Amino acid sequence: MIRLENVSVTYAHEDCIFNAVDRVDLEVKEGEFFGIVGTSGAGKSTLVRTINLLERPTSGKIYIADKEITNLKGKDLSLLRQSIGMIFQHFNLIKNATVFDNVAFALKASNTPKPAIRPKVIELIALVGLEKYEHKYPNDLSGGQKQRVAIARALANSPKILLCDEATSALDPDNTKEVMHSLIKIRKTYPLTVVFITHQMEVAKSLFDRVAVMSQGRIVECGSTYQVFSKPKSAEAQKLLERSLSFALPFEIKQHIGELYRLIFKEECAYEPIIAEISRKFGVELSIIAGNIEYINNKPLGSLVVSLRRDLDEKMKSDVLFYLKEKAFVSTYKEM
Ligand code: ADP
Ligand code: MG
Repeated sequence: MIRLENVSVTYAHEDCIFNAVDRVDLEVKEGEFFGIVGTSGAGKSTLVRTINLLERPTSGKIYIADKEITNLKGKDLSLLRQSIGMIFQHFNLIKNATVFDNVAFALKASNTPKPAIRPKVIELIALVGLEKYEHKYPNDLSGGQKQRVAIARALANSPKILLCDEATSALDPDNTKEVMHSLIKIRKTYPLTVVFITHQMEVAKSLFDRVAVMSQGRIVECGSTYQVFSKPKSAEAQKLLERSLSFALPFEIKQHIGELYRLIFKEECAYEPIIAEISRKFGVELSIIAGNIEYINNKPLGSLVVSLRRDLDEKMKSDVLFYLKEKAFVSTYKEM
């Protein structure tokens, strides 16, 4: 559906040139929920903005539905932009227009015949579950509701692609969930390919089929969300994963416990009594400091933070870790 070939976006600074996006190859399949994660400044927004040519690549090619769009101009460019919806962190709604008028605006802009506007707006407002809000103004709405209006507006011209740049990042957890559920619901009835940028790992885990990790303009890792979160290969992905199971351990407690390790268990191992096995096999007790099981792409992923006694001899410690590494992704636990 979307294909980027060796795309770079270069900015000229005073004394150097700087690659905000650096030789990126990317393919997003039709109907997919594709995520892009990475630290601030990694080039995520710049990359996504090349898909609707809000940003022109300095080099490389962009294809939508197998048609090259890299050099589109004029009317063809307007049509392309209409066929790709976009939503942003700060909603960008018109403040002095009602919910109805905010959505109708997009239809007027694309010269939709007048009699077709009202039924379409009503349909879109219902799609995002805001039936009773059509006469309200943005200031009367919660953040989640505002973003749902923005989604309705973005879908007004029946785009096949929706780009979301940190669309839930300004929202509290309840509003974030509300917007995520709205997108999940829309997906069931509306054939949409979604590219979604976020730094919220909870959003990534519950929404994305696949995820790309960006760092310094490059995609350093790309795979199914489950694969990336259960066995991250790049240092950047490992850092994101660590952050998603991190907590502040009280100083008093830290003094009394041993070395901390983070264990990530995949699929069938997520339910195995590994701690009991270690105790039986090696006579070594592992203390559980934190743990949970979550579900990504409908598969279980177990995480534990355990402590190993500091006075354990090196041989025993390496045997225990070797055994654990057969069952889990093991890393030393660092506080964020
Ligand atoms: P992200 O969305 O991952 O935070 P961006 O794509 O916004 O990253 O930015 C990537 C890098 O490109 C940043 O270092 C940013 O300062 C730089 N950049 C973005 N837009 C411009 C621009 N118009 N001119 C110069 N530098 C820019
Ligand atoms: Mg950004």
